[in-house]
Amino acid sequence: MTLLHDHFEKRQESILSFIRDLVEMETPSREEVRLNEMAGLVAERFRAIGGQVEQLPEPGYGTHLVANFASAENRDQSHILVLGHLDTVWPVGTLKRLPFRVTPEGTAHGPGIFDMKSGVTLTIEALSAIRSLGLGTKRPVRVLFTCDEEIGSRTSRPLVEREARGAAAALVIEPPITGGIVKTGRKGIGVFTIRAIGRAAHAGLDPSKGINAIVELAHQTLRLAALNDIEKGTTVSVGIFTGGTALNVVPAEAAAKVDVRFWTEADGERVVSAIRGLKPVLEGSDLEVTGGINRPPMQRSEKNLALFNHARSVAAEIGFELKEQAVGGGSDGNFTSAMGIATLDGLGVDGAGAHADNEHIRIADITRRATLLTRLLQTV
Ligand SMILES: [Zn+2]
Repeated sequence: MTLLHDHFEKRQESILSFIRDLVEMETPSREEVRLNEMAGLVAERFRAIGGQVEQLPEPGYGTHLVANFASAENRDQSHILVLGHLDTVWPVGTLKRLPFRVTPEGTAHGPGIFDMKSGVTLTIEALSAIRSLGLGTKRPVRVLFTCDEEIGSRTSRPLVEREARGAAAALVIEPPITGGIVKTGRKGIGVFTIRAIGRAAHAGLDPSKGINAIVELAHQTLRLAALNDIEKGTTVSVGIFTGGTALNVVPAEAAAKVDVRFWTEADGERVVSAIRGLKPVLEGSDLEVTGGINRPPMQRSEKNLALFNHARSVAAEIGFELKEQAVGGGSDGNFTSAMGIATLDGLGVDGAGAHADNEHIRIADITRRATLLTRLLQTV
């Protein structure tokens, strides 16, 4: 344990400098060329430490990356899946406004540093330490870095499920909750678009010939709001509402985008069927509902808690207390957990400000998080 800890402590500066390299390669979702380039750089690192690497280009999105690390001793065991993503939410050019910087308080800032370029770096570092220090792992390790997690994993979901099949555990290197708290549960997420269709008419000359789609959608918005169940943690939020073409025209069309979150499958189904069953209120108007659940809930299961308990005891040996919590945001861990695979999420470096201007990591946390991840790869 001290061996690993010392190893990472000595490497802290070069770890931080690689994190900087990744932060300075801006990689927002859908920036295909940039995401291909980052996948190429990470693939090169994995190959250099003995990984069997597969680069899977996804036209219009970027490249997903799979790397396998197996030895003669562990080849027959089921694998551990390390799950992460290469894309960020930050548009190209953000670096000009928010350049990489290190503060006297020991934090490192930059777009995507917390979510999750430091997590990507930790994975490379952990596997590299296992190799250079001649340590073994009980099971083969498979890494999957996708390029579209931040836009709902629209092309990578089948890949996540394929690479996760048969895994003994999934370790997700998303950022932790500030304070280094890992995630044992996540809400499921649904996304819907509801279109109301009315009839256009001159608002002054012929108002009675029109059917106001905005009024129709306003009725539906109130119905959607009534589906909220705060006690159960089920939320239904109309986040975008658009409609109308001109002031003097009774609007023929309006649309709303709806964000749905829930803790259990049953809660999700209740809301989904209520949304699909919405009926128009105004005579002659019509409704069109599209969308559905895009991430199942990651339930705080016995398996997830057992994996957390193992991680907590490893952290205690390293000398720190690991805490867990369930959260409302989703990740690719939702998919693995829903497959019944023990999943522990939030194993990245401690920090704060994911998707916000003050996004940063705590430099002092790098060593112990790298030690924790390495020990988990060895012992799970
Ligand atoms: Zn993330």
